[in-house]
Amino acid sequence: NKKAIATPGRTKEILDKYQFSFKKSLGQNFLVDANILVKMLETAAISKDVNTIEIGPGIGALTEQLAIHSNQVLAFEIDQRLIPILHDTLSDYSNVKVVHQDILKADLPKMMEETFGDDERDVKVIANLPYYITTPILMELLIARLPVQSITVMIQKEVAERMAAHKSTKEYGSLSIAIQYYTEAAVPMIVPSTVFRPQPRVDSAVLHLVMREKPPVDLENEEFFFTVVQASFAQRRKTLRNNLVRHFQGELAKEEIERIFKETEIDGTRRAESLTMEEFATLSNVLWSNTL
Ligand code: SAM
Repeated sequence: NKKAIATPGRTKEILDKYQFSFKKSLGQNFLVDANILVKMLETAAISKDVNTIEIGPGIGALTEQLAIHSNQVLAFEIDQRLIPILHDTLSDYSNVKVVHQDILKADLPKMMEETFGDDERDVKVIANLPYYITTPILMELLIARLPVQSITVMIQKEVAERMAAHKSTKEYGSLSIAIQYYTEAAVPMIVPSTVFRPQPRVDSAVLHLVMREKPPVDLENEEFFFTVVQASFAQRRKTLRNNLVRHFQGELAKEEIERIFKETEIDGTRRAESLTMEEFATLSNVLWSNTL
């Protein structure tokens, strides 16, 4: 029985064998602690009843665990140098498909269809993400409404906390609302930088997102809702009134915005961080009907 890839010894062995040098620009920080992976798999409730998608398999630390514990694995790796390494480290497993592709350019629905066919199992995304593109990757998966049940990812701690933040905290902002519009978000684990090779300069955390079956609020216009949320947080320390008057300059008069605050019973002297998603929805729906 071979040692897990996610150990300092085995990782060093593989890196030495291939004289692999890390590319910082690709966010390459490999996990060398199998316990962290076990906890990630537990959080995601990975079993033989699910198929999995991994983003950035590296040398296969997580991929190996997914091959053992899930049904089928579809993994996307951008770094050509890692492809032959993965073929070697994962040669014992016949249920892994590694695709050499930039995840942001992949046709995921098509690849899912090709890999999982009409298999009825839930699909879950699980990854130790390249930190330089955490937000673009997650937003792209969510906006595309990819047919997956959950997304469980290792990302920078600060970003994870902002994504899962509740109102009236300093982490709460337009990113929290964007993520939580599509998912229920939680941060079940903080992870020290010592479990990576090389060690990143920031702490990490596991972010667990469960897809919502339907949106939590009714919106007249989704895009406009996100514009209003962003405008409301433009200057965090200023009032809602201040931010919205500035944003809608030339489109809506001050008086009109005041009237909308009255109509929606939302106090314009509040700050954006005190508003719930429902309140932003109410506000944006009324603003929308007034800017038509
Ligand atoms: N899963 C491995 C682990 O946990 O040890 C590696 C994680 S490492 C943080 C991120 C991986 O994503 C690297 O292997 C990197 O080459 C890959 N990567 C970076 N940008 C990518 C992209 N746009 N598409 C697919 N993979 C990417």
